[in-house]
Amino acid sequence: MKNKILVTGGAGYIGTHTCIALHEAGYEIVVYDNLSNSSREAINRISALIGQPIEFIEGDIRDAEMLRQVFLSHHFFGVIHFAGLKAVGESVAKPLLYYNNNVSGTITLLEVMAEYDVKNFVFSSSATVYGDPEILPIDESSSRSCTNPYGQSKLAVEHILEDLAVSDTRWNLIPLRYFNPVGAHPSGQIGEDPNDIPNNLMPYISQVAVGKLPKLSIFGNDYPTIDGTGVRDFIHVTDLAQGHVAALNYLERQVAPVGFLPINLGTGKGTSVLELVSAFSDVSGQTIPYQFTDRRAGDIASCYSSADKAKVLLGWQAKLSITDMCQDTWHWQSMNPNGYNVT
Ligand code: NAD
Ligand code: UDP
Repeated sequence: MKNKILVTGGAGYIGTHTCIALHEAGYEIVVYDNLSNSSREAINRISALIGQPIEFIEGDIRDAEMLRQVFLSHHFFGVIHFAGLKAVGESVAKPLLYYNNNVSGTITLLEVMAEYDVKNFVFSSSATVYGDPEILPIDESSSRSCTNPYGQSKLAVEHILEDLAVSDTRWNLIPLRYFNPVGAHPSGQIGEDPNDIPNNLMPYISQVAVGKLPKLSIFGNDYPTIDGTGVRDFIHVTDLAQGHVAALNYLERQVAPVGFLPINLGTGKGTSVLELVSAFSDVSGQTIPYQFTDRRAGDIASCYSSADKAKVLLGWQAKLSITDMCQDTWHWQSMNPNGYNVT
């Protein structure tokens, strides 16, 4: 058995897929999640997929006492920290909630880690920290700026991690900057389960395809891109999950601390909104009705990563195609039209 990892937010979309990848790579995992945006059913499904119950603790990252209990009863090699709130619009309406949950929560977690001398930390950052990029593809040295509280909360945590690395050189702090995670586990058993009408493109398309929503609104067709619609670097969530395993493997190989080490997780390729709609329609055999509407406030034209650093340092690169992403999303959506709500 390999090292033991605490996975905060492990019941969520990216966390569930990463738990499976970690288990397959031989890691022992403990999931810590307050279920504010997830369900026990997700935990049941991970357990069914890996063929054994996973250790799950219902708790909040802002609850230092509860975290202490967890660290007292386990010897962790490190923490993968997914727990956070992620809806941009909600963050504009409720900035204090977002800073409290995402920033204060992370500080509490890091304080408890320091108390128990656990110094390996992999953090869910986002390409949103790059704001409107000046140069494409975006590499890790690009300047950072954010325009909404969600993005600010990610950037604030990155700054905290940078300061922490300077203050104590024993820390290994890897913010993984995700581009646009989409897709689902190939089994169709786990996937993205938005609570409400989806904000993101792929779950919106899949809900139109399955007949839950009538029509997709495409936000703008006058961007300076291949077809006028926005371009993003969509990455399959199982590739993303493998990126976390690669980051842990990398930390295990190090003889000296790495400090603050941000790494992009993307494919390096841009796909437009219309290209994604067309690929999804081909895979599902469904017509996806759409209309062009105004640009969404705050959106940028194009965003895709340089994936070189992950390849060189972690030996990781994304393998799955846009077709795979659409196929697995469709499989999950058609098998679970109501997500994890099985009643
Ligand atoms: P998700 O909402 O599905 O998962 C987050 C999990 O964290 C949920 O299970 C939720 O219940 C839990 N959680 C939230 N606040 C908590 C708290 N205070 N204590 C304990 N648990 C808490 O989101 P996801 O898509 O899996 O994203 C995971 C992480 O990756 C988030 O930090 C998100 O900001 C980041 N991220 C996501 C995307 C994306 O497009 N999905 C892109 C970039 C970065
Ligand atoms: N988009 C769209 N309609 C939607 C949701 C998104 O046209 O209902 C577009 C959006 O303008 C952007 C792209 O799809 O160009 C990706 O948006 P998403 O919210 O998924 O990711 P992000 O904007 O965070 O990169």
